[in-house]
Amino acid sequence: MDAADMGADLEKVLITEEQIIAKLDELGAQIWADYEGKDLLLVGVLKGAVMVMADLMRALPGTAPMDWMAISSYGSGTKSSGVVRIIKDLDADITDKHVLIVEDIIDSGLTLSWIKANLESRRPASVEICTLLRKPEVAKVVIDVKYVGFDIPNEFVVGYGLDYDERYRNLRCVGTLAASVYA
Ligand code: IMP
Ligand code: MG
Repeated sequence: MDAADMGADLEKVLITEEQIIAKLDELGAQIWADYEGKDLLLVGVLKGAVMVMADLMRALPGTAPMDWMAISSYGSGTKSSGVVRIIKDLDADITDKHVLIVEDIIDSGLTLSWIKANLESRRPASVEICTLLRKPEVAKVVIDVKYVGFDIPNEFVVGYGLDYDERYRNLRCVGTLAASVYA
């Protein structure tokens, strides 16, 4: 769906589809150069990272496998609980692999730091993070993020994989919701 299809539910567009694609093309080229000759595995976090993974991996000028994890940390609200549970684990053994976690957004950073520590305990060659969006709040947690698409204000956003109660993931851009949606 496009911004126009959102009608009154959309407050404003923060990042357009064109800006997202251009940024992921840039990150894809940089990642490919950084991991040259290395056994790279892209690990997506369901469900929010679906769109980022699809466009980022197509931006790579060569091939690399993907794997997925599903965790629960948010419920249906808009605040991080900090409670993380693995709902679906990776299919693959990541021993000696160079793992790049692909995420949609880092807010408090609680979810990602937990996932990163969990993957690091499996003896991979390395674990790095690539996120499309990052909120300033993340500064409160010590987490090293190698690739960041956009730093955004501390507002709840939807679109490009990000949801509000499972809605709006299919919005092409990233935007904020009108207050009436939360009412
Ligand atoms: P964190 O643990 O606070 O970093 O939260 C990370 C997860 O919360 C993300 O993977 C998203 O699923 C969700 N999340 C955080 N901020 C937003 C937002 O603005 N919109 C939609 N989902 C969000
Ligand atoms: Mg979510």
